[in-house]
Amino acid sequence: YAAGPDAVVIGAGGAGLSAAVTLSDLGRTVVVLEKMPMIGGNTVRAEGGINAAETPLQKKLGIPDTIDQFYKDTMKGGHNLNDPELLRTMTTHAKDSVAWLESLGADLGAVGRSGGAKYPRAHRPTDGSAIGPEVIRVLYKAAKDRKIEMRTQNRVVELLTDKSGAVAGVKVSTKDGKTYTIDTKAVVIATGGFGANQDLLVKYQSKLKGYATTNHPGATGDGILLAEKIGAATVDMKEIQAHPTAAPNGTLISESVRGDGAILVNADGKRFTNELLTRDAVSAKELEQPGKFAWVVWDDATRKTAKLMDSYKKLGLTVEGNTVADLARAMNVPAANLKATMAQYAKDQAAGKDSQFGRPELLQPLTQAPFFAVKVQPAVHHTMGGLKIDTKAEVLNTEGKAIPGLFAAGEVTGGVHGGNRLGGNAQADIVTFGRIAGQSADAWLKTLK
Ligand code: ADP
Repeated sequence: YAAGPDAVVIGAGGAGLSAAVTLSDLGRTVVVLEKMPMIGGNTVRAEGGINAAETPLQKKLGIPDTIDQFYKDTMKGGHNLNDPELLRTMTTHAKDSVAWLESLGADLGAVGRSGGAKYPRAHRPTDGSAIGPEVIRVLYKAAKDRKIEMRTQNRVVELLTDKSGAVAGVKVSTKDGKTYTIDTKAVVIATGGFGANQDLLVKYQSKLKGYATTNHPGATGDGILLAEKIGAATVDMKEIQAHPTAAPNGTLISESVRGDGAILVNADGKRFTNELLTRDAVSAKELEQPGKFAWVVWDDATRKTAKLMDSYKKLGLTVEGNTVADLARAMNVPAANLKATMAQYAKDQAAGKDSQFGRPELLQPLTQAPFFAVKVQPAVHHTMGGLKIDTKAEVLNTEGKAIPGLFAAGEVTGGVHGGNRLGGNAQADIVTFGRIAGQSADAWLKTLK
């Protein structure tokens, strides 16, 4: 491109690749810059599905879901902090995002229920496999088919503007430390969240000090910092979703394990909380424990209620014992304490009342051998806040005006999810707004001479 490509997309996750493919289909030349050696970002780690309402699959299965219900559920799940217009945009167009992914070859033949959703609306591969790899697989293939140039290990370090304040290009740093610039009139920021940037996390939420993360190491909030330097506004930066039960390698131990009956004990073999409090509250209690970690403990009767627990065993995350004393040894906690804890819990369960912490539901006595435990710690999972955008994915400045030529989509933006993101909505967000960012960048380029 003698005069640079029409557009540059920063970040090769789900949002960035959706924008790039859209731009290419509109006849634009585009270069995707990705700082990591691999494409996929956090997107490729996504496990659930892609939420959408009023899809052909739902209709075929007789699921009476509506876009309005999708909107309501998400607004409630986000503690009513969601930006109504952005949320309306996502919930209205998510079904088109599903159809678009299918047109690119995605298998989204199954639909399941995720937390906070009134109806099953999490679309996923027919064999029940994870959504993230499927989304990245088809978007990567689409980008290759269109001969879109994707440069890995190319990190954007600065956004360049002209005298009028419009975007004029990007400055890029390569793996050998060289920098170069690309001239372009349209930039889509799709750099993801900041869930792996301790400094930034603690700046906005001091209580997150010491948290692990379920995020990929590239989730450092670069796009937010780059855009702020040229006047962009941010929104909801404090809204950070923590999860209390991440294994040391970052694997999430699902909330449903506790919901199905498991308890939490600390390094002394003692319970310390009502295990069914909100994610934030349980995380905070965990950090007050010696070593700032806990064990999720369940028995064989509980294991039989959910396949998930076997999967943790397959991943090598569980320790087990044929007696509580054996389990205590495997966990390296005092056996006498753990025995007393389990005995007290069984007694409370029989009485139907948690005498210590007021847990509202005691589904299992936890008395059936063998016994299992997974070591867990709180981890940052999703950053809801980020760059302030409008429904056209234009990045707004602190006066609420669009910065000419600058667009953003995906986890780098804020407002869509309010105070809490529901499972299945990350994919709906990134593909929907990634496509919109591509369309808007094209529309902007049309207005130039
Ligand atoms: P989303 O879900 O919003 O698409 P992802 O985390 O999946 O977000 O993808 C964001 C991608 O952007 C990641 O692959 C990340 O490595 C990349 N990225 C982050 N910062 C930069 C940067 N400064 N330059 C280039 N790529 C970046």
